[in-house]
Amino acid sequence: MTTSILVLGGGMVGTCTALHLQQRGYDVTLLDRRTPGQETSMGNAGLIQREAVEPYAFPREPGFLLDAALGRGAQVHWHAQGLWQMGRALLRYLHHSHPQRHAHATQAYSRLIAHATDEHGVLVKAAGAQDLVTREGFRFVFRTAEAFDAAAQRAEDLVLRFGVRSQAENTAQLALAEPALQKPLAGAVHWLDPWAVNDPGALVQRYADLFVARGGRLLVGDAASLQAQGAAWSVRTTEGTVHAQQSVLALGPWSDGLIRTLGYRFPLFIKRGYHQHYTSSAQLRRPILDVERGYVLAPMQRGLRLTTGAEFAPIDAPPTPVQLAKAEILARELIDLGQPLPEPPWLGARPCVADMLPVMGPAPRHPGLWFNFGHAHQGFTMGPVAGRLLAEMVSGEPPCVDPTPYSPRRFG
Ligand SMILES: Cc1cc2nc3c(=O)[nH]c(=O)nc-3n(C[C@H](O)[C@H](O)[C@H](O)COP(=O)(O)OP(=O)(O)OC[C@H]3O[C@@H](n4cnc5c(N)ncnc54)[C@H](O)[C@@H]3O)c2cc1C
Repeated sequence: MTTSILVLGGGMVGTCTALHLQQRGYDVTLLDRRTPGQETSMGNAGLIQREAVEPYAFPREPGFLLDAALGRGAQVHWHAQGLWQMGRALLRYLHHSHPQRHAHATQAYSRLIAHATDEHGVLVKAAGAQDLVTREGFRFVFRTAEAFDAAAQRAEDLVLRFGVRSQAENTAQLALAEPALQKPLAGAVHWLDPWAVNDPGALVQRYADLFVARGGRLLVGDAASLQAQGAAWSVRTTEGTVHAQQSVLALGPWSDGLIRTLGYRFPLFIKRGYHQHYTSSAQLRRPILDVERGYVLAPMQRGLRLTTGAEFAPIDAPPTPVQLAKAEILARELIDLGQPLPEPPWLGARPCVADMLPVMGPAPRHPGLWFNFGHAHQGFTMGPVAGRLLAEMVSGEPPCVDPTPYSPRRFG
């Protein structure tokens, strides 16, 4: 008999999990309270980051910490209530960001990232989504020679250790590559392997369409209605109650809320982020990360998208887009942004884990329940490989990557 599985959450991670389970012959229902790909997986910078082999550590430089504490700079913003709510997880994040522990996390993180473009490639082709994807990398740009030299050195190191290809570009080469830059910069590291998606939400939607075209069931409902029914699971949907033998929880930044009701206390926290589109007629060819100022500019179908760094605030706190205002001023130093589109800034939240590794595997105390969340700064990148790995664990196949470091059991 075919095993039925419910996947809760239709972001990049849940949608790819549903596709990979379906491919292995399971009877899969994908549930979201909205259309797939309308939350975090829609509002990001659209980068499939093959270069991001190192997870994002808690910055430890005194200057950065002072700026953050005083609310200077655009990289970080915080609400006192957010620090209070997430304080314990953030202290553990600081602990795990120690260089030795970070190097350890990098080993496990890089093994997932290594599959990112290949796994997206398979789905992009099957979903006919080639029009959304550009495979020409993106740039870290630098304002000072010191930062550029250090980054170029680090990029060389990453080629040797992880095979991540890049090209260092000096002031003139960068100006030639990106004529829209209106000020000379110290240089850039052009990462050659990443891909850029010009409508991230549309890519998730195409993947979800593929899931439905292959016979998958997509339903609207509230994951909070999940209930264990003996050895099985049920959830209420707009089409009635759905029962399944197994269930996968892939609710991105909302995962903590649901696992708490099941009795799990994992060191999870969120980093909120904003975006705004601009009408810029100065055509940036590839996305850029202004590393020393902490924002990304990415050409999208809707305009030039400016995305911000981390805001530590409760997930449901009202928007406070102060970083966006600061980043806009900084970005205008480099590019003629034009006007913001007449729409409120988008607000989303990166689903983070203190040890910087996602949570993927069987729920420790609930047979038939699986977790797939916590992909932080690279969930859009990792969705397909995360979906594949989870499906391999469910089906008992040899996994493409050793799943031990991501096990939910590491939190007891
Ligand atoms: C500003 C910003 C820039 C970023 N840039 C990048 C980037 O360039 N590259 C990259 O790889 N990553 C990037 N990220 C991170 C990336 O967007 C996330 O890691 C990723 O989208 C997480 O995917 P997910 O599927 O886990 O979560 P989500 O996309 O949030 O999906 C979770 C789903 O669960 C659903 N849901 C929640 N609660 C319920 C409920 N009770 N009932 C039913 N459904 C529910 C939601 O509707 C949603 O569809 C960025 C994030 C931000 C904020």
